[in-house]
This record gives sequence, structure tokens and C-alpha cells, in this order.
Amino acid sequence: MVSERGLEWLRKKVESMRSFGGSLLGYVGLPVEARGGNVVKLDSNENFFVDADFLRQVFAEVLKDVDLRLYDPGVMAELKEALGKYVGVSGGCVCVGSGAEHLIDFLVQFFLSAGDEAVSVVPSFFMYEKRVWLSGAKLIAVPLKKDLSLDVDGILEKTSEKTRLIFVCSPNNPTGNEFSWEDIEALADGCSAVVVVDEAYAEFGGGSVCSKTIEKENVIAVKTFSKAFGLAGLRFGYFVANRDLASALSEAIPYTVSPVVAHFVQRLLNRFDVVKGWIEGVKGERERLLSELRSLRQMKVFDSKANFVTFKPKADVERVYRGLLKMGVVVKDLGDLPLIGHCLRVTTGLPHMNDKFLYALKHILKENERLLARASGLRGLYAFKFDAVSIP
Ligand code: PMP
Repeated sequence: MVSERGLEWLRKKVESMRSFGGSLLGYVGLPVEARGGNVVKLDSNENFFVDADFLRQVFAEVLKDVDLRLYDPGVMAELKEALGKYVGVSGGCVCVGSGAEHLIDFLVQFFLSAGDEAVSVVPSFFMYEKRVWLSGAKLIAVPLKKDLSLDVDGILEKTSEKTRLIFVCSPNNPTGNEFSWEDIEALADGCSAVVVVDEAYAEFGGGSVCSKTIEKENVIAVKTFSKAFGLAGLRFGYFVANRDLASALSEAIPYTVSPVVAHFVQRLLNRFDVVKGWIEGVKGERERLLSELRSLRQMKVFDSKANFVTFKPKADVERVYRGLLKMGVVVKDLGDLPLIGHCLRVTTGLPHMNDKFLYALKHILKENERLLARASGLRGLYAFKFDAVSIP
């Protein structure tokens, strides 16, 4: 029989995970209001330009090729070569896993122990904080500069001999901007930590740092097939590092990529002409979203090199979020973040999805203005009465 006291550690652990609960639940599941019905899901940065029938056809072809009885290390080597060719490095510099999150988790496990430190810029992808916390290490948050660029000196000031990892997400989720290679290189050259560049959204921006990464001893670029390739449900990601580091890390990563996934990814890389069309579709709609949002009064819009747009209505943000939900549009409520405040983030969807979002948002903002005007009218009335009474 387990004593009452003996389980306190477990309860504490369960309780402490609740502090991540809000963002995690918002991230993974649809809010209750939006379940079922004619809902447009624009909260998780998936790629809706991907042709589902095309994927089904590729999948059917893959199933004919694969012998599921085998571990098949041969296909992993082929896969790494194919990925290497795609990002301009040799296959020996590539490690594969079940999505970028799995690989971030692995890097945290590999590099961090209790007592170590990691640095992340803020605001950025909340998963770094969670993973570092789980490892027992300490996460130090360094705000971006006001213009949203990297504060290289600020980050380096916060590093010490205990710092093992520095997370830089480029394009950054949620601010949408990219960081320069010069700044990333300055971080890598300025300290002894490993700089992890999360390039989940790089295909929608100005390109990848992978080919430069391999020239450095302490830079790792993490990539995913969940965004540009539109395969969030497939769970596939990879990272690129110099050959020595990549081969050491490769030895330590559990064997998590199925041969089905490996064949599938290779076939898609062979049809990059099709994938490119999906990426161009997203980029075109992103520009439309940006300009439509910018045309709205009372709105701060962050530029974006990713497949989402972050914006801040100068209204009750929670109310706008709930209003969108009621009208069948799910966006991400980012909560109150350092530097940028309380913002919402919308994924670039297909034109009709974006139309629905823009229509709903405009409707809510108009309604908001109407209510404000009414309230200020009432205030005017009360002010008048107040003045009337207060004049002796
Ligand atoms: N990095 C960033 C910056 C992300 O936004 C996300 C997910 N949205 C991931 C990594 C996770 O990607 P994956 O689906 O490959 O685990």
C-alpha cells in the first residue's frame, strides 16, 4: 500500500503541468464553442493548400513499396540523402524524427540536465519553455528588441558556462519575422552553447540557414514537414548539423520514423514542383490577409514571413476572439505576451476560409465600434447631468 505522503511528489508534478495547460489546450484541441458545424480552423498553422487527393494517391503508391516487417535502415539512409539534397548539405549532416517537437524534445534531453540553463527569446514558441522545464534545467527568457530583431548582446550577457542551448525560431512564431544569419552566427561565435534554429516556417520566408549551419560546430537547424509540406498528421521532422555532431546525435535518437513515412517523404521531395505550388498559394493569401488586416482601423498587424499573421485589435481582444468563435472561425488567442501584448494569430487558409475570417472580424469590429459609440454617447449624457448637478 502506498502512503499518502509518498504520492505528494506526483501530485506536485501533475499540478505544475497545469501552468502550461491554458496554452497547450488551446493549441491542441478545438474550443468547445467551435466543435462540430461549419467551422474554419485557423489556429494551428496547418497548410490547407495541400491537395488531400494527391496525398492519398502518393500514400497508396508507398504502401505497395514498403515491407512493414522490416526495420529497413536502408530507407533511412536514402531519406537522409534526399533531405540533404533538398537543403543543400550531405545526408550525413541530417537526423530524422517524428516531427520538430519530438526533435526539440530530444535535443533538450541530450543537452540539458538539472542545473543547466537554456535561453529563449520572447515572445516565441512556448514549447521550448515547457520542454526545458521538464528536463529540470532553467529557461532564461530574453525579450526581442523593440523592432523585433534579436538582441544578440542581451542574449550573450545572459549566457554563462551553464548555458547549453539557445533557441531561436526563424521565422518566429508568433511575431512572424526572420532573424539574420549574421545575428545567429554572432550568438554561436559569442558563447559555448548550441544555437538551435527552429525553421518550422522557413519555406514561407527568405530561405534556410542549413547550408551555413554545417560550417559551425554549435548550430543546429530544426525543420518539419508539418507546415510547407502540409503533413502535420504524418509527424515528420529533421534537423541539420555539422557531420560530427549529426552522426553523434543520430546514434542517440530513438528509431521513430516509420519506413512508410520515410518512403512518403522521399516521394514528396521528388514532387517538389507540386509542393512549391502549395507554398506559393499560402504566400499569396498571406499577402492578401496582411493587406486586408492593415486596411482595418484600430488594428496593429505584424509583418509575416510565415504561414500565419499575428494581429492586435485595439478592442477587447478576448471579446474579438470569442466573437470569431461564435461565427465559426477559430484563431489562436496568444494571451498577453511580453513586448507585443495581447494578440491573436490567424493561419493563412484557403481564399474562402480567409474570406470567412475577414468577414467575421470586420463584423465584430464594426459591432464593437457601435457599442463604443453608444457607450460614449451615454457617458456624454451622464457627464452633462453630472455637470448640471455640480454647477453651484
Ligand atoms: N516549431 C514551431 C515554431 C512550431 O510553431 C511548431 C508547431 N506549430 C513546431 C515546431 C512543431 O512542429 P511539428 O509538427 O513538426 O512537431
